[in-house]
Amino acid sequence: MLGLYLHIPFCSSICNYCNFNRGLFDEGLKSRYVDALEREILGSSLRGRTADTIFFGGGTPSLLEPEEIGRLITVSRATFAMPATAEVTLETNPETSSRERIERFRAAGVNRISFGVQSFREPELKRLGRLHTADRAVRAVDEARAGGIDNVSLDLMMWLPQQTRDDWRQSVETLVAVGPEHASLYLLELYPNSPLKEEMARSGWSLAPDEDAAGMYLWSLERLDAAGYRQYEISNVARPGRESRHNLKYWQDGEWIGFGCGAHSTIAGVRSRNVAGTEEYISRVQAGEGATIERRSLTREERLEDALFTGLRLADGIDIEDVGRRYGVDVWARFGTNLAPFVAERLLVREGPRLRLTRDGMLLANEIMAVFV
Ligand code: SF4
Repeated sequence: MLGLYLHIPFCSSICNYCNFNRGLFDEGLKSRYVDALEREILGSSLRGRTADTIFFGGGTPSLLEPEEIGRLITVSRATFAMPATAEVTLETNPETSSRERIERFRAAGVNRISFGVQSFREPELKRLGRLHTADRAVRAVDEARAGGIDNVSLDLMMWLPQQTRDDWRQSVETLVAVGPEHASLYLLELYPNSPLKEEMARSGWSLAPDEDAAGMYLWSLERLDAAGYRQYEISNVARPGRESRHNLKYWQDGEWIGFGCGAHSTIAGVRSRNVAGTEEYISRVQAGEGATIERRSLTREERLEDALFTGLRLADGIDIEDVGRRYGVDVWARFGTNLAPFVAERLLVREGPRLRLTRDGMLLANEIMAVFV
């Protein structure tokens, strides 16, 4: 089944590390954007296909009014065959959340909330330029529960400027106390010329040594194991059965359609990309020109690489016999010589047809996966 990704490119302020496709919120632009998004969905050439997830990502999708989110869910359901049990996720920033808004989002059809918390420590939130406080983030989760959402995810970022192992422990312990169904733990990635990078240079903020970052990652996964979570992907843990059904499509060689500016789609081995600019997106859609500016059929080689590269991110790894059958190749015969040293070092485990990274292997995932490219 397809996954639907709807991109909402508006934020209340711009965080100093952010490299996403987003801009400052503007009421008029937002209304025109929602109209265009509705039109793009209704005009989809895949009308009638079955889809079982909708993911509102951004940006800050919760800046839309619940009625606007409701309209977009309604047109998605009218365009695609969607089961009543479809997973509908709304990315939300704690400062835009309240019990009353959550109730209205839920009434509009949202059944999963993903909060961009990033840290439960005030100095770290300030350094990142986030608008919420740690208390507000904790209250936002309570409000989501009170508003009837029983599937909550939190994002935390580790290896932040000036962050020590103890600081990271505090955020993870607060996460465990708050008890979401799902959590994503990301390493901060500093892109060149990001305002945060410049601020770090000005303020003399530094990053902990690499071995501390590795220690933070491994410790948090053990702590979350002990708290009843199961790691199912390099950066993601969940209570049993609460894995992100939408994101699993990206890692399980699935199919998804992206709507909105800059959104990507992958359907039947064809990858396409929408125009990135918000205004340009609106004018193209309203002029009936279509938002897609690039469409490319992946070669069998590229599809094989993708299936191996993304599948190995999963904690259960990949069934190389199954992938081999799908793409007409004996995976071990092809890559085994280069993979064997990682197996010998216990970074990679081969169990029957399955190949998976160990946690130490996950720390070196990029180097190991380079074998496939
Ligand atoms: S809220 Fe998210 S999308 Fe918006 S600027 Fe901050 S990190 Fe980027």
